[in-house]
Formats: sequence, C-alpha cells, structure tokens
Amino acid sequence: MYQVAARLPDGTMPQNGGEPSMPRLEPTTAMPATSMPAVLLVEDEPAIADTVLYALRAEGFDAVHVLTAGEALVRVQEQAFDLAILDVGLPDLGGFALCRQLQAERALPVIFLTARDAEVDRVLGFELGADDYVTKPFSPRELVARVRALWRRTRAGANTATSAGAPVPVQVQGPFEHDPEGRRIRYHGRLLELTRYEYGVLAALLARPGAVLSRSRLMDLVWSDALDSTDRTVDTHIKTLRAKLRSAHADADPIRTHRGMGYALDVT
Ligand code: CA
Repeated sequence: MYQVAARLPDGTMPQNGGEPSMPRLEPTTAMPATSMPAVLLVEDEPAIADTVLYALRAEGFDAVHVLTAGEALVRVQEQAFDLAILDVGLPDLGGFALCRQLQAERALPVIFLTARDAEVDRVLGFELGADDYVTKPFSPRELVARVRALWRRTRAGANTATSAGAPVPVQVQGPFEHDPEGRRIRYHGRLLELTRYEYGVLAALLARPGAVLSRSRLMDLVWSDALDSTDRTVDTHIKTLRAKLRSAHADADPIRTHRGMGYALDVT
C-alpha cells in the first residue's frame, strides 16, 4: 500500500505538509468522529493521491490509498469500505473493470476520476453503477464535496430503510415488487438488473404511481449530486429501463411519456 503523507504522532496530518495550494476546508463540515466513513482511493499517480488523501482526512474520512486495481481487490477483502474513488486509467485493470469486480462483491458507492472528458466514458461509468465522476484536473475540495454528498445520500438511504430497526417490507404495486432495503425491483416476478440510476428513476416513479414527474424533477430526485447531467440523461435511462422491463415481460411498456411534461408509471 502506498502511504503518501506521514501522520503526526497524535494521528493528525501535518498542517503544512507540502500542500500550500490546498484550500482551507471549513471545520464545520468535518464528519463526527463516530461515523468515520472508510474511503478506498485507487489512483496510480502519487501526486494526485497525495492531495486527495490530505483533503479526505482533513474532512474526517478514514482514507486508504492503493496504487493498483490488484491491490484494491486484496484490500477490500481485509476491510469493509463505505465508498470508493477509482481512477479510470489504472496500470493493471481499468477503473471500470475494477468497479464491476468491486460491486460484484457488495454494493459500494463509487466515484470515478477520469482524465478523459469523453461523454462515452461518463455514460459507461454510470451504466456500470458509478455514482459520480470527477474530471481531471479537479480541485481536492470539489472531490471531497462530492464524496461528502454521496456519503450523506448513501447513509440517508440506509437510515430511511432501517430507521425503525425493523425490516422495510417489500412494496407490491401491480406487477412491481419493490424491496427498498435491498434496492431491488421485480417486475412480473422477474428481478430487474438495474444500474443505480435506473433503480433511482424507477423507484421515484414507483413512489407515486400515475403521477407525472418532469425530467427536472427526476434530475433533482435521482441525480442530485451530478453537476452536468442533462435532460438527455433522464431520457437515456428511461430508454434502457424500458428495454429491461420489456425483457422481463414481453411487450410491457408501463412507463408513459407525457410530451412536454415528463414520465409516469402505470402499475395496473
Ligand atoms: Ca491514472
């Protein structure tokens, strides 16, 4: 494992540890010590990893850095992480392939670091279950803000599902069976293999059957932390959702398009 900056004996980071350009982070945003989320950073460029680690630790995250996908796969066997930041361009296994392997084991919120600004990378990343991405060069402050937002969103989802301490029952609406805790949706008895955003869209529609949700409303509900998603992002995910619903049940098309207004779900 690659350790960038030495910690002081009391466990804190040095205050002037070679990052003079690091913006000061507001102390009020630091995580309480009781909920130190463990973040796995997979980045083969030490200089980038250094600034990211410093910023994450300053915000109270328990950040671990490895240089390669191979090390990451070993590391996740030793420790449960709450969130991962994956460089797309890794020397041994690409970040996307690593994401697939990590998420095959267990649900893990992922933010990609990409040097390639191509739309195809972004879409591919989201299709693979990425929650967000940051394009290099980025400010550590921006990345940490994304991490914090994603962590809160993930934790809020978990708290909503388990706040009463009792399992949230599967909600049956017509042909849909929604398991909010497992973030799973069945359609006509068939489990839909959904990406995180497809799940978000379908869950949002399922929460209010028949109601027309505008694209901007869906953006707010599902892509709250993505900076530059567009209406087309919604349309793209509606399209892939429809294809998955059809493959679960031939000729089914429960998502209604209301031109100029948005989408609604028919659960009859
Ligand atoms: Ca790289």
